[in-house]
Parts: sequence; C-alpha cells; structure tokens
Amino acid sequence: MAEESKTYKFVCTICGHEVEVDTPELPEDFVCPVCGVGPENFEPAED
Ligand SMILES: [Zn+2]
Repeated sequence: MAEESKTYKFVCTICGHEVEVDTPELPEDFVCPVCGVGPENFEPAED
C-alpha cells in the first residue's frame, strides 16, 4: 500500500539541485542547500 502523499519537485536553476516538498510552493525562507539561493531561483520540475 503506497501512501498517497502528493509531492512537488523543484529544481534550482542555478546549480540544478532538486528538492521535493509536500506543498505546491517552496517556503519564502527556503534556501538552496547547495548554492544558497532563495526560492525565486527554483522552478517546478516535471518527472
Ligand atoms: Zn542551488
């Protein structure tokens, strides 16, 4: 039985780092753990 938890994937347009969250948008204070940019530098990634 797989849990039905919708996740949203975002990719950093600066370094390419991918993150997965359970909200349709990244938090305002999200910071890329690799290059340190904010959520404005992430875009939704399709599977
Ligand atoms: Zn980054």
